[in-house]
Amino acid sequence: MARSKKTGDPFCSFCLRPATVAGQLLAGPPGTYICKDCTQLCGDLFGKKGGQAAESSSPRKEAGKDSAKDSAPLKVPKPHEIFEFLNQYVVGQEHSKKVLSVAVHNHYKRLQQGDSAGIVEAFKDVEIEKSNILLIGPTGTGKTLLARTLARCLDVPFSISDATTLTEAGYVGEDVENVLLRLLQAADQNVARAERGIIYIDEIDKIARKTDNVSLTRDVSGEGVQQALLKILEGTVANVPPQGGRKHPQQEYIKINTQNILFICGGAFVGLEDVLKRRASKQGLGFAESEMPKPDARDIRIEPEDLMKYGMIPEFIGRLPVTTILEPLSEADLVRVLVEPKNAMIRQYQKLMAMENVKLTFAEAATHELARMAIKKRTGARGLRAILEHLMLEIMFEIPRRNDIRDFHVTKNMVTAQRLELERKAEAAA
Ligand code: ADP
Repeated sequence: MARSKKTGDPFCSFCLRPATVAGQLLAGPPGTYICKDCTQLCGDLFGKKGGQAAESSSPRKEAGKDSAKDSAPLKVPKPHEIFEFLNQYVVGQEHSKKVLSVAVHNHYKRLQQGDSAGIVEAFKDVEIEKSNILLIGPTGTGKTLLARTLARCLDVPFSISDATTLTEAGYVGEDVENVLLRLLQAADQNVARAERGIIYIDEIDKIARKTDNVSLTRDVSGEGVQQALLKILEGTVANVPPQGGRKHPQQEYIKINTQNILFICGGAFVGLEDVLKRRASKQGLGFAESEMPKPDARDIRIEPEDLMKYGMIPEFIGRLPVTTILEPLSEADLVRVLVEPKNAMIRQYQKLMAMENVKLTFAEAATHELARMAIKKRTGARGLRAILEHLMLEIMFEIPRRNDIRDFHVTKNMVTAQRLELERKAEAAA
């Protein structure tokens, strides 16, 4: 531990001078420190412009910086290329995929607006605004998967945060800057890379304002967090505590510019979808909900007022200009989820079995039975994974020790037997 045994004062872990001589120290992992002179020396040794490292708020900022690569313009795929890439991993959600392809293309084009040589003179002063995205849809429909796949397509760092863990400064919970710290970790501490990454914030509907009466009660969990997120969503230079947790005044911060970070927020917004559909369905009046003609996703327009009624504050909605709705996955979609995507669940099991020299196949009726079970659980494709894992457990346990089995076929009866067993267990527990 880099503290003087005599005085208990911290000293630089590199040159061993105490803070009283070396001046202000930056804290690294617990118990390690570095002084300004040593960071400067590091900057020189690693071929940075003299003093650059010392000027930055923390040497961690420079730690994994590969300036040539990271400041090079991104190769921005065309919208149809992004769409095709998403198609390899995400089933259905065609409209959302199209909206995202265009929004993400524009977002990353925006990063290049400064150095676009052929820019038409007349548009020189036009600044393309940031287009953060709001994904609305039930659980297990692919919101996180879409965001993650976009990051993979663009080869940028990606992180996921849960809005429910965040609180405004001063309350128990996480500061919103921790969202950025997670992205920095995903970028191997490389600030330049993090500054053009994608952050997915889940459960955004859970930070809705709980009450309409703003003046009497200060809503800590909802409105306060929305307020706190505003700045980083819009674009600011945020002070991120390197160790996470709560910020405190004596701390050194890593500065992260959020101007080019793409924020994708997702939430189920239970109840909102029905309101929107009813409005979109022109003949909606006089129909029972189940009989309502299914409107096309493209017809469903979300007005800011809809989200305000849900408890989102207008400024927050304004920072998420691109909104799209994800549809619940049908039985046919869920069957496709099982077999079609590049890393489809069944394909993963087939690969594992192939490594044991066993050919694993599924009857089509078995996949439909699995899909129907998932629909019953109302957790979309998320439930599908749990059901399949349960089904495959015994098979994956037994097969590797049996040298006589070279083929294994999963039938509908096997799935039904599992369903009945689960139903029996649920009944017994009730
Ligand atoms: P959520 O909408 O709750 O964010 P996720 O994207 O986390 O749902 O989905 C959970 C898992 O279900 C994913 O990892 C993926 O395996 C599967 N999944 C969900 N939706 C789709 C989809 N549209 N296409 C393919 N797989 C999907």
